[in-house]
Formats: sequence, C-alpha cells, structure tokens
Amino acid sequence: MIIFPLFSGSAGNSTYLKCKNTAVLVDVGRSAKQTEDSLIQKNLHPSKINFIFITHEHLDHVKGLHIFASKYKIPVYSSKGTINFFRKKNNSRVISDKLLFKVIPSKGVEIGDFFVKSFNVSHDCCEGIGYIFETQNERKIAFVTDTGCVTNEMRNSIVGCDTLFLESNHDVKMVECGKYPYNIKKRIISDIGHLSNEDCAKELPNLVNSGLTHIILSHLSKNNNLAQLAYQTAVSTLFEHNMKENIDYTLFVSKNINNSCCSF
Ligand SMILES: [Zn+2]
Ligand SMILES: [Zn+2]
Repeated sequence: MIIFPLFSGSAGNSTYLKCKNTAVLVDVGRSAKQTEDSLIQKNLHPSKINFIFITHEHLDHVKGLHIFASKYKIPVYSSKGTINFFRKKNNSRVISDKLLFKVIPSKGVEIGDFFVKSFNVSHDCCEGIGYIFETQNERKIAFVTDTGCVTNEMRNSIVGCDTLFLESNHDVKMVECGKYPYNIKKRIISDIGHLSNEDCAKELPNLVNSGLTHIILSHLSKNNNLAQLAYQTAVSTLFEHNMKENIDYTLFVSKNINNSCCSF
C-alpha cells in the first residue's frame, strides 16, 4: 500500500493511493500540470492511474479534473448529485463529454484491488461524499474532508479503519478573530461548512480504540489554522485518553503544498 497526499488545503486537494496493481487519485484540486508534476516527482506516472474518485464539485477538489482525466482517459467516480451537477452546469473547467463518469453504487463497488464504499458528508455542495477503500489484506483507508460535522452515519462508516484522512480545517478562535466577512465566518463554522481542530480531535480516541493507527490531518485552512495547532489539538485530546503518539498511533499533518512521502 502506498499513499501520497499530493496537495491538501483550500488551494487544492489530491491524494494518490495504490494497492498492488490498482492506483487511484482522490480529487484533482490543482491544475492538471501541477498534478502531473507532483506525481512525476515521486516517480509515479499519471498514465498508470486507473480511476479517479471525486468527493464534491468545489473547485479545490476538481480544478484539474477535466484536463487530467481526459488526457489520460481515466474513469471518474463520484456521487449521483455531483455528476448531475457537472452535466447540468456544463462547466467547461470540469466537464467534458469525453469524460467517463460513473456513479458509485450505494452498496459499494469492487475496483481492481480495492473495494470502495462512499458515505454522505455534511457540506454545502450538491452531494458531498467521503470514501472507504478496503483491500484484500484487510486494510481500510477512510477519506473524510469538507464536512461541517461528523454524523453518526459517518462514524459508522469509518469505524474500524486503520488509516484516516480527516479534515482539521480551522481553529474556531482564529476564524472568529480573522478578517473574513461575517457570512463567510458563519459558513465555515456551520454544520455544513468545515470541521474544526476540536471537532476533528474529539472523534479520534474512539477510532484509535477501534483499530485506527495512521491519522492524517487534512484540508488545513491557510488563514485560519496552523499545522502545529491542529497537531497539538489532536495529540492532546488523544493523550487525555492515555493514547500516545508513535506507540498507539502515528500522526501526519498534510501541508498546503506538495507534500512529501507518506506511505504505510
Ligand atoms: Zn468544499
Ligand atoms: Zn475543499
């Protein structure tokens, strides 16, 4: 299993995941050129990507999708709502008749060496989803970003995962004291906005108890968060539950630009 978070944060999100002979990207939120460059830097070839999975239609998740997927003829999975949005909107930045879109079935789908399931998240978009990638050797990797809260449906989906990409978007005080207009602040903090460091951290102890060993804090806000603050909030919360870093779990903070190696 190889996992490379290529980009993470409001300037674009994309993660490379490979198991045996199947390689996928979750989101293509930077330009196709930046995505290609980032893969090549890691000795990964874009033409060897078999599938793309899109969480939702916001530009920081689909900016490079049209060019990248059509250039390399890669099928794109997403929710019905997101695919309908692409088709109806006829948004030339992300839509092309040449793109092969597939709706991810509610019971999940076997795709190469992965079994992939999705679940709904709570975000102000058409039909945002998170993903679970299961492998034959019982690895279970979960992606949860762009959600204003964690619902019971989400908890039930991700319980038992060994690796989790979880949004740790902002520090609430930094948002409140920051320079954004009131309506934007309200949107970020709302249940259909983004997940705060505190709300992210409080989900972790139960998940570590149920088998989570690798935590990747993702989608950090450039203006309303600090990597050290997100890291410290998660580690302190886990420490209160007697869970120690590098003994009970490992923790990695996905940076805004071109992350280095992260493979498990
Ligand atoms: Zn979003
Ligand atoms: Zn986003």
